[in-house]
Amino acid sequence: MSNEMINFLSTLISYPSISSNPNNSQDSKNLANFIIDSYTNLGFKMELIDNLIEGKNPLIFGKFGDDPNKKTIMFYSHYDVQPASIQDGWDTEPFDLIEKSDGYVYARGASDDKGPITATYFAMKELLETTSDIPVNIAILYEGEEESSSHGFEQTVYKNKSFFSDIDGILILDTSWFTDHRPSLDYGLRGLTYMAINVSGPNKDQHSGLVGGTIREPMSDLISILSKLIDSDGNVQVDGFYDDVLPLSDAENELYDKIDFNINDYVSYLGRNSLFQQNSKTTLMNMWRNPSLSIHGIQGAFSGSGSKTVVPASVTGKVSMRLVPNQDPKTISEIFIAYVNKIVENMNTPNSISVEPIGLGEWWYGDVNNFLFESAKSAIENYWGKEPNYVRSGGSIPIIPFMEKTFNAPAIGLPVGQSSDGAHSQNERLRIENLVGAKHVIINLLNKISNLN
Ligand SMILES: [Zn+2]
Repeated sequence: MSNEMINFLSTLISYPSISSNPNNSQDSKNLANFIIDSYTNLGFKMELIDNLIEGKNPLIFGKFGDDPNKKTIMFYSHYDVQPASIQDGWDTEPFDLIEKSDGYVYARGASDDKGPITATYFAMKELLETTSDIPVNIAILYEGEEESSSHGFEQTVYKNKSFFSDIDGILILDTSWFTDHRPSLDYGLRGLTYMAINVSGPNKDQHSGLVGGTIREPMSDLISILSKLIDSDGNVQVDGFYDDVLPLSDAENELYDKIDFNINDYVSYLGRNSLFQQNSKTTLMNMWRNPSLSIHGIQGAFSGSGSKTVVPASVTGKVSMRLVPNQDPKTISEIFIAYVNKIVENMNTPNSISVEPIGLGEWWYGDVNNFLFESAKSAIENYWGKEPNYVRSGGSIPIIPFMEKTFNAPAIGLPVGQSSDGAHSQNERLRIENLVGAKHVIINLLNKISNLN
């Protein structure tokens, strides 16, 4: 079976479905049609759904079974990939899958998300071949723009949601195991508020030998603002920032004791011990359940090598905050603006300063005690013989809370690959054991859910 799975994955890989490159949009469409044909051959009802944003890749909707006595489980993945070319430093052609003797297959999209799509497809195929039925009703929802901010996803799904009947649970197959040797289940993600602070001075760039010492420079004003956003212990200084953060419950606190996470490995990954807390548990909490603020860059600033004596006329600082329950991304953007305005008032500067949000994303906080999580945990334990890591990741996937609301059903993240797979990087890979294991876990999980009825 694993050869058949690898062949199928290799075919998915061969379509360079790079969503950020418009030249690949026909490849993406061809791949979407291949996936649709494959599921149609299994007896699924499939539809290619045009993206409501013109020129963006279509979505794939599918379903199997409409027995009202069964639960309906939705599978989400994306069929688009990050760009890749051998010139980027790949050892082999990124769109030709190769199997190496280390037990991994290598190709762009192997782990993110063509492997997960393959595992799902073969789980369905095997169920139909061995029992000529699937024990629950299935809904398939795949998109082709995930690597490009999920363009058009929310409006297109919302408009076409009547394709699906009632959904009971959503499986997100688009994350990875937290550590290499223990499976994970994901129950949370942080949200995001991304802000731009612009400071504008003279009407064009100036020479420091000419104007230096005569004007209040935009860059100095911006640095002064940026320096007041966070203190040296990592505390965000924005007034009211922590007001809505949910306190830690005893049950949540206990979950952190069981995670297999070693602070020394993390420090060696970083290459320097610059941690705020020298403790595994509190570091994990800082990564997953506490909010944070990062300063990413200054647009318009000189950033080349050597010395250039420019005085930039206008600079924009880019700052983002990762948010947790119950912080509201929009409220955070408003209090951030109010805080910067307060700093600016005290600066008494002639430069013009504006602050605006350039990206908002909601956090997601699932329930580790619902039927979906419990069934997945037991399916994983059955196959892998280990309890999964319960992961609440520090990143953001805003479509998950959107799907929970739109389909009024809980979601969980069921990762297929490992975090060391190099998704988005050179020589992306997937362990064959993980690919085959994911198929078994899905079959197991659907059988368990059907027994709950
Ligand atoms: Zn992905």
